[in-house]
Amino acid sequence: MSEQSWLECIRGCGEKHAITEVVYQCEQCGGLLDVKHDVDALKQRSVGEWKELFEQRAAVRSGSYASGVWAKKEWVCPQLSLEDIVTFYEGNTPLLKVPTLGKHIGLSDLWVKLCGNSHTGSFKDLGMTVLVSVVNHMIRQGNPIRAVACASTGDTSAALAAYATAAGIPAVILLPHAKVSPEQLIQPLSNGAKVLSLDTDFDGCMRVVQELTQDPSIYLANSMNSLRIEGQKTVGIEVVQQFGWQVPDWIILPAGNLGNVSALGKGLLLMYELGLIDHLPRIACAQAQNANPFYLAYKNGFKQYQPVAAQKSMASAIQIGAPVSYERAVKVMQCFDGIVEQASEEELANMCALADRSGLYCCPQTGVALETARKLAVQGVIKPNERVVVISTANGLKFSQFKASYHDGRMTGMDALYANQPLELPADLGAVLAAIG
Ligand SMILES: *Cc1c(COP(=O)(O)O)cnc(C)c1O
Ligand SMILES: [Zn+2]
Repeated sequence: MSEQSWLECIRGCGEKHAITEVVYQCEQCGGLLDVKHDVDALKQRSVGEWKELFEQRAAVRSGSYASGVWAKKEWVCPQLSLEDIVTFYEGNTPLLKVPTLGKHIGLSDLWVKLCGNSHTGSFKDLGMTVLVSVVNHMIRQGNPIRAVACASTGDTSAALAAYATAAGIPAVILLPHAKVSPEQLIQPLSNGAKVLSLDTDFDGCMRVVQELTQDPSIYLANSMNSLRIEGQKTVGIEVVQQFGWQVPDWIILPAGNLGNVSALGKGLLLMYELGLIDHLPRIACAQAQNANPFYLAYKNGFKQYQPVAAQKSMASAIQIGAPVSYERAVKVMQCFDGIVEQASEEELANMCALADRSGLYCCPQTGVALETARKLAVQGVIKPNERVVVISTANGLKFSQFKASYHDGRMTGMDALYANQPLELPADLGAVLAAIG
């Protein structure tokens, strides 16, 4: 069996490259590249054999197959040797039923996929293990790569810094000044990355990193690099596996640069092509109203697309006005009968707080996705008993200031419906009893 993968232009020019070539765009048309797999080779294993293999790997506790990404190695990066893999055992995250929250939202079969329960606290680990492992391989083969570099809204840089330093590869991080949380800023600093805080927004950082990585010895680690997509695509596969190979009715996720929705679609389509599932779920993308170019394009049937200047959003990880993977994502929306919704700042903040009341600890981006679930349920687009999975993209612990300012009333111009404050009391039993009623 010779499973193979290579890079190919997403616009169908037919241009191909090895996955170890330093190339991010089609040299003929400028389109992005996708990793393609030899599906005929993959079909040499039966549906039952694939399921059995993945069930066995889900029980593995050490070695590279203990990673949820590398457990699907044959579908992700078949030709990489195990010694080149750089992993923190990402993936295999909990898929949690949340009936209390579901009741509030009007959905009786609501689930949250906790991708923030991961080494650096976000789903970005899924893609970064693949990218850094391939770069590790390239360097070992003698490719003169000096550093890996990315633009980031906070989570990509945390993941890149951790994986790169674990492999002994220098990392260069471009962050928009004062637009990532303090936790997200300290992560790459702690991992020893060269962190450059630029006086611009994410889109400005993205432009500079593309110029910087024209130098082939500085390797681009943003999700326009399709190696990231290969790791991230395992999330949908994992969800289906966790449901005993059953497809949920809906998968909802927050969307910014549109790499993650492209990845989600790609993984599910591969499962469909190989016969592990016989139909596809519907996908809903959730955008912050303050940074909603994909929502606006959806509203006109994807006939017109205008990047926007992203306004400030508390969902800072999706505060992006010119998403790089727009074309990829449109294709996914067409295959999955997709929907795009949006949430205001007030809506996302209250939804996070409501979700926290049911025991979650929701990041603002996940709040946007949960609010989208609620809106689609209210609109009757999602039926009350349909099975809905919301992808929680990051750990709430990365957004302490957001939480604190909600609860202590510093978020002005909105009703903080679920704000909660400590009571200051003397150390006296009577006062305590009076306070707790
Ligand atoms: C990166 C990120 C997103 C958005 O993913 P895209 O691929 O940019 O659409 C959403 N939530 C969090 C927490 C993220 O870090
Ligand atoms: Zn092309």
